Amino acid sequence: MKLYNSLSHKVEDFIPNVAGKVSMYTCGPTVYHFAHIGNLRSYIMEDVLEKYLRYEGLDVKRVMNITDVGHLTSDGDTGDDKMLKGAKREHKTVMEIADFYTKAFFADCAKLKIKTPDVVEPATHCIDEFIKVISSLIEKGYAYEAGGNIYFDTSRLDKYYVFGDLSEEDLEVGVREGVEEDGNKRNKADFVLWFTKSKFDDQELKWESPWGLGYPGWHIECSCISMKHLGEQLDLHCGGIDNQFPHHTNEIAQSEAYIGHKWCNYWFHVHHLNTASGKMSKSKGEFLTVSLLEEKGYDPLVYRFFCLQSHYRKSLVFSWENLDNAKQAYQKLASRVAALIKAAPSQPVAPSEEAKAAEIAAAFNEAMGSDLNTAQAMTVLYDLLKADIGASRKLELLEKFDSVLSLGLIEAAGKLTEESSGGDVPEEVLELVRQRKEARAAKDFALADQLRDKISELGYAVRETREGTEITKK
Ligand code: AMP
Ligand code: ZN
Repeated sequence: MKLYNSLSHKVEDFIPNVAGKVSMYTCGPTVYHFAHIGNLRSYIMEDVLEKYLRYEGLDVKRVMNITDVGHLTSDGDTGDDKMLKGAKREHKTVMEIADFYTKAFFADCAKLKIKTPDVVEPATHCIDEFIKVISSLIEKGYAYEAGGNIYFDTSRLDKYYVFGDLSEEDLEVGVREGVEEDGNKRNKADFVLWFTKSKFDDQELKWESPWGLGYPGWHIECSCISMKHLGEQLDLHCGGIDNQFPHHTNEIAQSEAYIGHKWCNYWFHVHHLNTASGKMSKSKGEFLTVSLLEEKGYDPLVYRFFCLQSHYRKSLVFSWENLDNAKQAYQKLASRVAALIKAAPSQPVAPSEEAKAAEIAAAFNEAMGSDLNTAQAMTVLYDLLKADIGASRKLELLEKFDSVLSLGLIEAAGKLTEESSGGDVPEEVLELVRQRKEARAAKDFALADQLRDKISELGYAVRETREGTEITKK
């Protein structure tokens, strides 16, 4: 596939280091609060990328960290540890906060059909790795001690601003955003690897280290967790665009100083979800969560659908009106799929359909392979529905595309069909109806008949109509 690489500023052929295999790293959430739907936009797009690479037949290993220590309120190493902020807010321990919000994050991901990465590693589990890498950086002269903390010396690098779109001036603005400047730094761009004697006296989690009791900086987490599970050559690194600087810039600086060669070949950055009033951010107080969407009557997958309608390299504006439009479009799509499911068993696949089906599958690949053009891929989905192909072949392709897009269209169609039959049909009967639908879709008519008999024994009759499956009490 072709993918935009933030490092080269070009759309490039994606070629993994080892043919057929992809090592992929994702910056995980800082678990001090619920994820907002902006954070989740990044994870949705990364999920689609991972699934498309798998769809192409590549063997992907994806690793994600959980930031449960070291991420300060300013990415420039000033302010409080965000985890401590969460603990104070809720009068709990940092570990209770981390545990609660890690679970909440994965619950949100499940609702959005975001696959859990193959390896998920909390930063607090890797303290020994951090100490090992920091010690080596000191030995090699890339890190120094000042005011009790350990800093990375950016002046030792030939090129620090590797993404190239930042000037010294931008950096100074970035640093000034923080509450106070850190006078220990030799160079403005230097960053903390390990906090020891610092102003964070009430920091809850501290570990012994060669430099005294302390805790790691945020950036070192990702370098170490990635190298621990994916080795010293990484194919693909993902995150939201705000991570590009300073976080990813610092990750590259310390990783390459440590290993002595190029670390990661492709950098994938998802642009932000904004509201009309600007960037969505937790520090501003009010923010939108998956639970809030549900409370307001939106299926979380409608939000996923909304995200896929736009390209990941454009910022996306969230409004309830935009989400309503997505909801309507999603429901229309689901009802068209419901009609297909109904028609499928009666329409066997004709050999003549194959050419058209192959053309549509190729159009899907073309869209997704062009820097993950999900909006174009959705157009292909509509083209498929319109195409002159039998219902069961259409459904097969739709399921295939949905293994990448994960819009849950078949399930949504199933729900619609049940709703259209209405009434208070017992769950046991509904379950048999669902199984029967699956049996029919799989053309197992003998099983479908058996299930119809079972439904009948429970006092219900089931019938396929134009509007969907009709269930009536006998
Ligand atoms: P955090 O939990 O703050 O470490 O962020 C988790 C992920 O969300 C990171 O990849 C961020 O770059 C990303 N992110 C933060 N804000 C937004 C936003 N408004 N839109 C999209 N992604 C975001
Ligand atoms: Zn990271």
